Amino acid sequence: MEQVTNEQVLEVLKKIEDPDLHKDIVALGFVRNLRISDGKVAFEINLTTPACPVKTQMQEEAIKRVRALPGVSEVSVKMTADVRQHKGLDTSALKNVKNIIAVGSGKGGVGKSTVSVNLAVALAQEGARVGLLDADIYGPSIPTMMGKSGETTIRENLIQPKTAHGLKFMSMGFFAPGDKPLIWRGPMAHRAIEQSLSDVEWGELDYLVVDLPPGTGDVHLTLVQTVPVTGAVIVSTPQDVGLMISMKTLRLFQETRVQILGIIENMSYHICSHCGSREEIFGHGAVKTASESLGIPFLGEIPLNQAIRVRSDEGYPIVLAEPSSPIAHTYREIARNLAAQVSISNYASPKLEIVEEPA
Ligand code: ADP
Repeated sequence: MEQVTNEQVLEVLKKIEDPDLHKDIVALGFVRNLRISDGKVAFEINLTTPACPVKTQMQEEAIKRVRALPGVSEVSVKMTADVRQHKGLDTSALKNVKNIIAVGSGKGGVGKSTVSVNLAVALAQEGARVGLLDADIYGPSIPTMMGKSGETTIRENLIQPKTAHGLKFMSMGFFAPGDKPLIWRGPMAHRAIEQSLSDVEWGELDYLVVDLPPGTGDVHLTLVQTVPVTGAVIVSTPQDVGLMISMKTLRLFQETRVQILGIIENMSYHICSHCGSREEIFGHGAVKTASESLGIPFLGEIPLNQAIRVRSDEGYPIVLAEPSSPIAHTYREIARNLAAQVSISNYASPKLEIVEEPA
């Protein structure tokens, strides 16, 4: 029987293009450990994120193409991932962290923390190593949403993050547990953020999601001045007023040369649990329209749904509590879109340095 060669296999794999990086998977160096023996072909496709939106599709196409070669009796394709590090992080205080994703919004109450938590858990569910930093000094809500509060412990001079739902997290709320209010002056907030980045034993992470306070302020500037941030995600409701305010946050990131990875419409519509009819309580689609005119990726839309709030209050984010629900599916899709934008940014963007304060 005709023996298939490495070259023939690679030749057909070159026909598979990564839709985000716009190059074929051989040129991108994704194909690894190619072995051929007695018509049996085995190799690995090493992606830039375990949360790749086209992972299954790519695997199926690779199997199909190689299987069609003469002399091939069996094909086995293992999908692996190696998240690429954002430039500059390797020499920063967070050298074991591959990417920092800042989540911002124009105003409070739009669901920014809920989105941060569900996206972080969804990324962890895909197999990524994830950390979550609750940097919202005005209303740290992540301990409640993650179902764990109380003080943190210190080991060998490093603050130990808490672990829950497959990820590590840290909150500004841990600096003032109980019902004591957090009253921060600018320099205190600055120091607390710095400490949460450099004095916490984050270990090795693919993604550190940072839930910022609403609006624009000291915390945003401290973050971008302390570490190179891969990019920012903006959460907005479809209401115009909310959107106008969101634009200010977006501009702050742009002025500090932080790439906008995308924008999410939260509370986008409501499906009546009794009659199934759809209502667009705060309007619908304004965020997508704005993203198109600004040339910013639109990552997706999340409905207004009571279960999201209930699960958050219970400390079990909906992606975990109701993993097969349409809402969990939506969050996972958004998480994959976000991971794809991170990969694109690391592949294409020039080095983003720590920046100076805008004039
Ligand atoms: P932010 O971080 O923007 O201040 P939160 O994430 O704390 O907002 O959300 C504010 C409230 O809205 C919380 O009670 C949360 O459970 C709820 N919430 C967030 N997103 C949704 C949604 N899509 N549907 C229903 N409730 C939501």
